[in-house]
Amino acid sequence: MEARLMADRYAVIGHPIGHSKSPHIHAAFAAQTGQDLRYDAVLGELEGFEAQVARLAQEGLRGINVTLPFKERALALADRATPRARAAGAANTLAVTDDGVLADNTDGVGLLRDLTRRQGQQLAGARILVLGAGGAVRGILGPLLAAQPACLHVHNRTPERASALLAGYATHPQAALLAALDVAQLELQSPYDLVINGTSASLSGGALALPAGIFRRAGAACDLAYRPEGSTPFLEQARAAGVVRLADGLGMLVEQAAESFLLWRGVRPDTDPVMRELRPSGPA
Ligand code: NAP
Repeated sequence: MEARLMADRYAVIGHPIGHSKSPHIHAAFAAQTGQDLRYDAVLGELEGFEAQVARLAQEGLRGINVTLPFKERALALADRATPRARAAGAANTLAVTDDGVLADNTDGVGLLRDLTRRQGQQLAGARILVLGAGGAVRGILGPLLAAQPACLHVHNRTPERASALLAGYATHPQAALLAALDVAQLELQSPYDLVINGTSASLSGGALALPAGIFRRAGAACDLAYRPEGSTPFLEQARAAGVVRLADGLGMLVEQAAESFLLWRGVRPDTDPVMRELRPSGPA
């Protein structure tokens, strides 16, 4: 019998891309589930991203993860999209199928799985504050709303961006739970059960300019950004204000990767061994 000549190929594409942990995570998933695949990191072309994706698909790639700054363009180029990708207005996962390119967004479900399964966070009935109104926040609002929190407040440095984001949810069945708040309102609305940092401030090493009151009696703080050491400037701000339950975005990264793997391969890998390998010291 003729042996298979080539493993199925996948890639993550972004700009920059050198820092990506995705090749390592997907190689671990493949080894664990006995799947024969190859997964590379590809530097995205800022000008010619769409043509580059078409080329990769023609070369036989079966799936592509998409990261900054291409997630909106990835959705736009796809032939079909899942409801959660359409709701987010962005895609982090492309599947190359016989019917063309399918766009999906696994960021939100990845965060929810990390929050509920790994961090033991109760979301139903919780008071949740989300900081930021960029691409990552677009991906998580829908899944957070679906978890039936008591409220979901959004605060962004540029308030118009938060208002514009929430306007997209005007007809959502849980729209009444959403509100865009300014700094003064944040002080009045705390305490929160969960404060999520969806800004990119931690990446530049900067602390967020926030009233310390937002962490008053806060139950937990979670940063979507991740660092090798597990903590971030935002998490240190929360810790200094007395928040005990802290988590960075590594768990979300591994969970969103597992959701992509499930879409592509039809099998869900166990994320716990991969988390233990990436973060032997445990949570932040
Ligand atoms: P983005 O679209 O560029 O949005 C950046 C957001 O951060 C905007 O709301 C921006 O506010 C805000 N911001 C930036 N610097 C700030 C500062 N110094 N003070 C206050 N606000 C600031 O980025 P993104 O794609 O949403 O990514 C956001 C974060 O999520 C990044 O850290 C990224 O690594 C992380 N992320 C993690 C995962 C994961 O799997 N763990 C997945 C996706 C994203 P303005 O509107 O005022 O500019």
